[in-house]
Amino acid sequence: MSDPGVQASLHKNAKTTIPRISNFIYSSRFKDVNLVGRLYPHSKNVELSHWALPGGEGAWQEWTFDQVITQDFTPTEIGKEFGPTWTTHWFKLTFEIPEEWKGKEVRIRWNSDSESTVWSHDGKVLQGLSTGDGAQRRGDYLLTSSYEGNKGKQVFYIEMAANKLFGGADGDNTNPPNPDKMFTLSKAEIAVMDKLVYKLTRDLEMLYQISEALEKDPLGHQAMYTANHMVNLIIKGDDSGASAVADTFWSKGNGERAHKIAAIGNCHIDSAWLWPYSETKRKAARSYSAQLKLMEDYPEHIFVASQAQQWAWVKEYYPELFERIKHKVAEGKFLPVGTTWTEMDGNIPSGESFIRQFVYGQKFYQKELGYTCKEFWLPDTFGYSAQIPALMQHVGLTRFLTQKMSWSMVNKFPHNNFTWEGIDGSSVLAHFPPGDSYNMFFNVDELLRTVKNMKDKGRVSTSAFLFGYGDGGGGPTQNMLERFRRLKDVDGLPKVNMVTPNEMFEQLETEQHNMCHWAGELYLELHNGTYTSQAAMKQLCRSAEFRLRDAEFVLAGAVATLGSAASSLLQTSLASLDPAWKKVLLNQFHDVLPGSSIGIVYPQAEALYREALEAADSVWDESIKALLGTYVSETGSEKAVEGEVLFNSLQWPRLEVIKVPGKDGKTEEEMLVEAPPFGFGVINSVEPTHKVTVEESDDMFILDNGLIKAKITKSGLVASLVVIGDERDIFRKEDGTQLYGNQMTIYDDEPLYWDAWDVMDYHLETPRVLNDKVDSTITPVTVVKDTGLVARLRYKIAISDDSSITQDIELTAESPYLTFHTSVSWYESHKILKTVMETNILTRNASYEIQFGILERPTHMNTSWDSARYEVCGHKWADLSEPDWGLAVLNDSKYGWMGRGNKLSLSLLRSPKAPDAECDMRDHTFKYALLPHLDTLQKAGVVQRGYEFNNALRIARVPEAQVKVRSLISVEGDGIVLHTVKPTDDASGDLLLRVFECHGCKSKARLNLEMMASGVFASNGMEDKDKAIPFTANSNHTHFDISLTPFAIRAYRISFLQE
Ligand SMILES: [Zn+2]
Repeated sequence: MSDPGVQASLHKNAKTTIPRISNFIYSSRFKDVNLVGRLYPHSKNVELSHWALPGGEGAWQEWTFDQVITQDFTPTEIGKEFGPTWTTHWFKLTFEIPEEWKGKEVRIRWNSDSESTVWSHDGKVLQGLSTGDGAQRRGDYLLTSSYEGNKGKQVFYIEMAANKLFGGADGDNTNPPNPDKMFTLSKAEIAVMDKLVYKLTRDLEMLYQISEALEKDPLGHQAMYTANHMVNLIIKGDDSGASAVADTFWSKGNGERAHKIAAIGNCHIDSAWLWPYSETKRKAARSYSAQLKLMEDYPEHIFVASQAQQWAWVKEYYPELFERIKHKVAEGKFLPVGTTWTEMDGNIPSGESFIRQFVYGQKFYQKELGYTCKEFWLPDTFGYSAQIPALMQHVGLTRFLTQKMSWSMVNKFPHNNFTWEGIDGSSVLAHFPPGDSYNMFFNVDELLRTVKNMKDKGRVSTSAFLFGYGDGGGGPTQNMLERFRRLKDVDGLPKVNMVTPNEMFEQLETEQHNMCHWAGELYLELHNGTYTSQAAMKQLCRSAEFRLRDAEFVLAGAVATLGSAASSLLQTSLASLDPAWKKVLLNQFHDVLPGSSIGIVYPQAEALYREALEAADSVWDESIKALLGTYVSETGSEKAVEGEVLFNSLQWPRLEVIKVPGKDGKTEEEMLVEAPPFGFGVINSVEPTHKVTVEESDDMFILDNGLIKAKITKSGLVASLVVIGDERDIFRKEDGTQLYGNQMTIYDDEPLYWDAWDVMDYHLETPRVLNDKVDSTITPVTVVKDTGLVARLRYKIAISDDSSITQDIELTAESPYLTFHTSVSWYESHKILKTVMETNILTRNASYEIQFGILERPTHMNTSWDSARYEVCGHKWADLSEPDWGLAVLNDSKYGWMGRGNKLSLSLLRSPKAPDAECDMRDHTFKYALLPHLDTLQKAGVVQRGYEFNNALRIARVPEAQVKVRSLISVEGDGIVLHTVKPTDDASGDLLLRVFECHGCKSKARLNLEMMASGVFASNGMEDKDKAIPFTANSNHTHFDISLTPFAIRAYRISFLQE
């Protein structure tokens, strides 16, 4: 039954009644009779002048507001074009509100087909605007809701960015941007907005949506008749009657069992994607200021913003805005969310990087806002590592939110609410908003979809509903908040509350006992090409992670050894490592590291990585000098004479061939050297137990170092690989069938849509092995080095007229693996290059290194879930093993793998053309290695070899007197890796030691520190000092014992008496 006073249409045709409502609020064809024509009854163009900020992308950062407004603005008008892409244009708006508009609501209305920012005449950021084709996402600025009169001339400024919400592409957003795009100014006016017409429009809009979405339900018909009756009243001239009818409809509340929607305003701002970092800084200011403006009229509004980096940008570039936001943070209305520095990639960053994402984010929020995040909020990343629950627990987080799993191509994830268990058994509460989006507009169908999609019906009573324009930023609009006011408590719809993430998770936690469990990774069945696209991002990330680790370790050694004498080194080094880490963390953003940003992002990201590497190396250098003294090589100095030491930042002794500077100081020579664990060694040439030999026989090159033996064909295939003393061959079956390793294989790589993102399953049907035989495209293998320490072969492949591969296959004395130093000149289109090992190993699971652990994945395609995981992420190695024998493949910068059947392949390079038309079109160098082993991968030390392969011994110049063997730390016992040794961030002089159990067993170890500690404490990622741990210390030595459960991550804090 309709509400009293509502006359149902006695005509029987919903097919005319429903569109009638829609026409009445939306159609510009009937503006003379519908509400569209009445919304802005009066308007007036503003007086407009313009100044083009010189320079292109990012140039705005060089100018202050005060400088801008003193520039020479020249008159301009609507209809003119401004650009090109990424430039900045300032407009001065001068107007006087007509006195007859007294009492009316007055707005600035603007359309520059682009993003822009409204500034006050005295330099306050007032609000972002986003205009252009499609929805006018935010095209006006509320000057006053009731003009008081006599204001005289007013001046405002609009800063126009020559880009749209989604960048500067023509046509499809993911096309590379058009650098010459121009943007037309089509509106610049002040206007009266009729508040009652606006209200009636929103009322009718919601009734229309209910009538459409619930066409078969009584509620849908009630909404339809109510709206129809309203239209009739409005036509009669009874606007207030129509308004009252709507209010009655909205006042009928829903029942107590109605599903609860936890509405949270947000705007997902990609830190760089179809725009560069510099634009994101402005996007954050535009979005945040727009939310502050809305909060003036909508006190119930709660808005959350993720990524501390974006908050930090607002603080740096818009300090006045930041101060205003802080008040709203204190009121609990405008809140940080997610904890991390950026919303990073969920697969590729190392375990340490993940922890730093949390630490740098949380510390920023605590210091700047006095706020502590309690959740990990990562709505838009391309899959989630199985170690995330443990990494979260390590920094004290137990709540996780994403929606991206809804993008999987094949399998529907079975839960929206579950307990997620990682490889170490840690678990967290995971919530996926059932609406499968963070871009909700508060439409009726979105609310209904949220309830319908929710897979844990009867288990939980609440679902998150993330509303606001996102990806390019923006956030909630007035329309969305008006819709909320109408829909929050309507009989027949879910009950909607505006809440904080904290309130939502608190509610879910009361229901967690009802939730099912999911163990292991959250594999996204899409975007798996991002493990490979933009190879330099992966390579630089890996290098930076290791070099920062080295720097922190030596700094820690210097601080612990020298005590207060190192305090200024500690201060300056921490001050330099802090921005270095932040640059690395920023570049781990989920479109930068994965390789899915536009081209201009990448040179900037590379520069940030290089700055971080330089900072790390400089801290390393200064710390070694502090620890071991400085030398001067010039004659006449009273300081020490130059010597050289080996530096090893791994916890086991190493015997390796390295390159050392030759006696002439110009050339390099190879030398087998021995380095002690976690410390410094003497560069002495060690005689190998076995020399490496190379011989040619039967068209094969045989490399043998007494540990392993490999046969290489003239075209660079590995035809045989054995551990000496074992008869099994990785590449030859027992029945004599020949298999091959290092098949350089190229595949067609044309995704269905997301070019830089996706490698589709069907690419596997198009393999072309480039080096299966010697033909005209191959320059066959020759021996290029044979010194007894190093045996090196070289061959070359012409991939096409434009691209080629040169590969050095190398075995060194005492090395258990065969290394492939690879240079690729890569100028292909829609191809993927892999190296494929077809092995004689029978196993149902392959093992992959992930953050601080190992993940096993099936090698078969039994189920649709197994089948969909054809391209997966792994870090420094992957392994195919039978219980007592196997093959590991190591790499220095690659992340895309396939372990299927008896094959293990490593993806090397892709060549997508969007959104960066030049993606990876350059020369590349990288290396990988084949490590055949006996026993399990654990007993064979695959984890350790992966570390060594990525962390070469380094040489430091020190005074000659300091050239001796010394370890700063050693670890007794297998299975525990001391990954991180660093001074604590509080600059107290304490050290933080982070360990993990690397084998998936219960492991024990003794940590020996060659320094005298005064206290050892359990700690965590946040570097808190928890309970004391028993230890033994005397003179210059401290030790303590630890035991860890499988894949556990633990931290210990070491204190020293400061003299
Ligand atoms: Zn995103």
